[in-house]
Amino acid sequence: MKINRIRILFTNIFIINSKGKNILIDTGYPITKEHFLKKIKYDIDFVILTHTHFDHSGNAIYLKERGSLIVVHENEKDWLLNGSTPPPPGVGTIGKNIMRFSFLKSFDFPPVEPDIVISDYREIAGLLVVHTPGHTPGSISVIYEDVAFCGDLIMNLSWRPSSHLPIFAHDIKKVKESIKKLIDMGVGTFYPAHGRPVSVERLKI
Ligand SMILES: [Zn+2]
Repeated sequence: MKINRIRILFTNIFIINSKGKNILIDTGYPITKEHFLKKIKYDIDFVILTHTHFDHSGNAIYLKERGSLIVVHENEKDWLLNGSTPPPPGVGTIGKNIMRFSFLKSFDFPPVEPDIVISDYREIAGLLVVHTPGHTPGSISVIYEDVAFCGDLIMNLSWRPSSHLPIFAHDIKKVKESIKKLIDMGVGTFYPAHGRPVSVERLKI
């Protein structure tokens, strides 16, 4: 499987081909529409949103308009339909301060109607989509062989080498449980939306 990692501002999005289908994981910020559409040269069959924060779901509408099927977890279906997701609480001093002082006052994005709604597990074109809550209630990860595209379940931030836990989360205990769940399923490498891939051996939680 070829993994095509594209950076849209601060977010990694991934294009992979499985069983003859092109799958896009996440879509980037709503303000990046032109850059995003320039990078997406292929027909995309499925757009899997790891969760509905605006830096992941922001451009989904433009692929929906081209006929891609949009995949989201049932816990965030309404947020996607409304184009608005509540900001997550900060974790630790850094996360709390970012949420308190930052420009991140609006998490809104163009609303999209999903085509496929996930609950616990679902196979899509040979990929396993798994519910991995914690960062948000409806966070999902996409597993292929021993790789997990995990959205914000982990973050690999260069300015914060001491931990790979996300700096924002609705439930940090569930984050840890979801990471363990993926490791128990045989995941060897995590591909986060922020930062470079991390192997299980190097993972700091
Ligand atoms: Zn997020």
